[in-house]
Amino acid sequence: MLDQTPVQAQIDASRGDRLRVLVVGAGVAGLTTAQLLRRRGLHPVLIERAGPDAPSGYMLGLMPLVDPVLKALGVVEEYVAASVYMDRYRIRGRHGALINRYSLGGLFDVYGDYRGISRGELMRVLASRGGTVSHRSTVTALERRGRAVTAVVDTGEAAVEAEFDAVIVADGLHSATRGLVLRPEQVTAYDTGWGGWVVWTDADDDTDLGEELWGAGSFVGTYPVKDLIGTIICCSNEHRAAGLEAFVAELRADIPEAGPRIDRVLTEAVDGRETYFWSLTDCRSDDWSVGRIGLVGDAAAGFLPTAGIGAGMAMESAWVLAEHLADCDADGVEAALAGYERTQRPRVEAAQTNSRQLAKLLFNESGTAAAVRDLATRFIPLTTALRPIRKLLEDRPAGLSRAR
Ligand SMILES: Cc1cc2nc3c(=O)[nH]c(=O)nc-3n(C[C@H](O)[C@H](O)[C@H](O)COP(=O)(O)OP(=O)(O)OC[C@H]3O[C@@H](n4cnc5c(N)ncnc54)[C@H](O)[C@@H]3O)c2cc1C
Repeated sequence: MLDQTPVQAQIDASRGDRLRVLVVGAGVAGLTTAQLLRRRGLHPVLIERAGPDAPSGYMLGLMPLVDPVLKALGVVEEYVAASVYMDRYRIRGRHGALINRYSLGGLFDVYGDYRGISRGELMRVLASRGGTVSHRSTVTALERRGRAVTAVVDTGEAAVEAEFDAVIVADGLHSATRGLVLRPEQVTAYDTGWGGWVVWTDADDDTDLGEELWGAGSFVGTYPVKDLIGTIICCSNEHRAAGLEAFVAELRADIPEAGPRIDRVLTEAVDGRETYFWSLTDCRSDDWSVGRIGLVGDAAAGFLPTAGIGAGMAMESAWVLAEHLADCDADGVEAALAGYERTQRPRVEAAQTNSRQLAKLLFNESGTAAAVRDLATRFIPLTTALRPIRKLLEDRPAGLSRAR
């Protein structure tokens, strides 16, 4: 667990370090970066906009890309205990019938497990070796002064100014801190024109099964985590306004038979439990480092959830970044950030492109296109659809391969 610590106390603790690092955002990428730097003897200052009781968020399927990172963090056992092994993956077509079933286990087992975990549980796993964080804090100014960066941290009660050798921007897809570093034209957004209601539904006995319904004008994904199923119900933006209940009614009329799991999660999604709508957009930053300031995770290249790889890539990037930083001193920061960007950016952008291609396949309004897709899906082996991801696993950065 992380100790909620005043930001000034974190700054004071970092003062003796050969490298004074500020990490903005204690999400998947920021927390991984900070924890890895801590294991290398540094005291990075970690700040987070949200309060300590942020909700569990959504479901994550994590590729074995994360295994070496978890090993470097010393939290493999905690991760296994907090997650479920996902083996089976089934797709239902536009009329609700099963059109293909795959074994993810069979596809990935030479690399490791594919596992399901809630974002909240992942946060707890990443934090399980302890550390500090300052909640409800953001950065309002970053200024390069001489051989350091001066940051102003707004804690809600005071503005605290401090000097750092490196600043890591890890505040996610809609990063505000990125706007202090890059011009708006250096960040390109990508919009699928779709979005999805995210809802926690009850677990069933198929704890290793991910099941999806690929409709024409609809998509439903169901993914197990420990004791729950994370569900996303997607439609185009035009259908959003009528609301979830109206959309589910329309979907059921269109596809009356979609198997017991989809039937149940649709019922539970409209039984009054909490849901939120996630717009299916992403973004790409032209530069991942500007002097002593580096971007990591979705702040650098944001992910659609379609390939289930954004969090895995965020953790891998955090690992590569932390390795580069931990091996350098204050004079080497700019070269370290440039080296990190050289290694990770092509990999992350390849995964992001794959996620966008899958979005084009999944989010489809036309009945004809959906019919062609159903037919093709019956015959396309998963190995073909996920070839880009297998390639990422095969070509992992050298240090990551060694850590396995
Ligand atoms: C519904 C959904 C399903 C997904 N499914 C998968 C999946 O199955 N597999 C997968 O690998 N990926 C999945 N992803 C993608 C994955 O969640 C992201 O790619 C990953 O979380 C990126 O990590 P991050 O640290 O960059 O951002 P985040 O995890 O979003 O963390 C950013 C952190 O920064 C904080 N913050 C925001 N603004 C500020 C600020 N101004 N100052 C300080 N802190 C700030 C936030 O509160 C947050 O804690 C999914 C995403 C969604 C939305």
